[in-house]
Amino acid sequence: MTVRVRFAPSPTGPLHIGGARSALFNWLFARHYGGTFIVRVEDTDLERSNRVSEENILESLRWLGLDWDEGVETGGSFGPYRQTERLEIYKKYAQELLESGKAYHCYCSEDELALEREELSAKGELPRYMGRCRQLSVQELAAFEAEGRKPVVRFLVPEEQTIIINDLVREEVSFECSGIGDYIIVKSDGVPTYNFAVVIDDFLMEISHVIRAEEHLSNTPRQILIYQAFGWNLPEFAHVSLILGKDRSKMSKRHGATSIEQYMNLGYLPEAMVNFLVLLGWSPGGEDEVMTLQQICEQFSLERVVKSPAVFDLDKLNWLNACYIRQCPVPRLTDLALPYLHEAGMVKMPVSSEYRIWLEELVLLLRDYLDNMSQIVDQSRMFFDSTVVPVDLEAKEIMGQIDVPAVLKKMEEKIDTATLLNQETVKKILKEVGKELDLGGKKVFMPLRVAITGQVHGPDLHKVIPVLGAEKTINRLKDAFIRVSN
Ligand code: GLU
Repeated sequence: MTVRVRFAPSPTGPLHIGGARSALFNWLFARHYGGTFIVRVEDTDLERSNRVSEENILESLRWLGLDWDEGVETGGSFGPYRQTERLEIYKKYAQELLESGKAYHCYCSEDELALEREELSAKGELPRYMGRCRQLSVQELAAFEAEGRKPVVRFLVPEEQTIIINDLVREEVSFECSGIGDYIIVKSDGVPTYNFAVVIDDFLMEISHVIRAEEHLSNTPRQILIYQAFGWNLPEFAHVSLILGKDRSKMSKRHGATSIEQYMNLGYLPEAMVNFLVLLGWSPGGEDEVMTLQQICEQFSLERVVKSPAVFDLDKLNWLNACYIRQCPVPRLTDLALPYLHEAGMVKMPVSSEYRIWLEELVLLLRDYLDNMSQIVDQSRMFFDSTVVPVDLEAKEIMGQIDVPAVLKKMEEKIDTATLLNQETVKKILKEVGKELDLGGKKVFMPLRVAITGQVHGPDLHKVIPVLGAEKTINRLKDAFIRVSN
């Protein structure tokens, strides 16, 4: 089987979760079968399309690691790959349909069409174009031209035909042509509509499988009619289910960030994003859902793409991202953390190599507490702030206990005289403090934790103190002592 698949975004906004999932499924299908993955830009909606969106989409694809073999920027022997650069091609094919009587010019105005739709609705019929311009006489045609009307080209839909789609995901789906109505294939400005251009391109680019979102299923009969009009073989179709929010309504901004760029900016890792996206409609054979792109690619098939809607679960994405953050090498994680710390004014760029070593220690310490890299700012604030105070009531109450001043003093002395501060030595110091004051673990750890970090929860103290350093630790112990002694 020669596999040639495409991702065909309309550049009218950033790359959304749904679009990214379509791109990913096509990419995986191509890579699994050693086929070709093409990126074609469908920019025939001149008002809404723009190059900024196109660049954003391509950038997001690159960030996800989805490289394309042919398409915009890359080129290839089936180009051009931007529809506005293919207008002459569509014109030629539209002309062919006009000449064979399978399409015709329609001069109806917007008002006339609106009236027709109203009349049909009033009769309880499907609003559609009823073919008023199908058989225009020479005189009628001349009259319209004389009025200066600019015609569109409509495809003549056969009345009595059932279109059956053997969809690779949805199985058999059928549509009655009688409900379709002659649709526009070329607008009055000469620009083709999506349903026409997509067929010409998929045919000329020898696309073997059209894998796209379910919302295009209702376009498919319109496209099949055009294949049939030219006598072309159909590609295989696979319509991937909708993505719903957790409340089962269609995924929208209410359910969280919708574009890939937003997730990138929040500090999600591309490998987590890809892993998450593939699970929106596809399931692996085994139990383990945490998989590398390579592993997914080996297993990927359309047979395991499910018919039922996929549910976008942000908690799951956070969980997956946390898994990937924990596995990520610290130098890379530090590179990812730096822009956030810089932005927050905590780190000045460029950083010296000595400071970089310290930052890596900090990242290593905190990575278990992050769902995404932008959280490093809040998580690491206590290491940058000059003073900390108890953050909540629980923390304040801990500092009110009777033994606290003694614990703080003892700890301060020990840190002050320690020659080396690492996890081992700090562990030892903590034990000694408890022993010398005859206090159990919690009575030592909790006030020290609150004094040093302001918080009740967080990384182990013996890990925090070496990263914070002796000076800051001592200052905080002193501050806390003053507060509790007043
Ligand atoms: N340009 C269409 C879209 O962005 C592509 C649909 C298709 O894959 O045929 O939705």
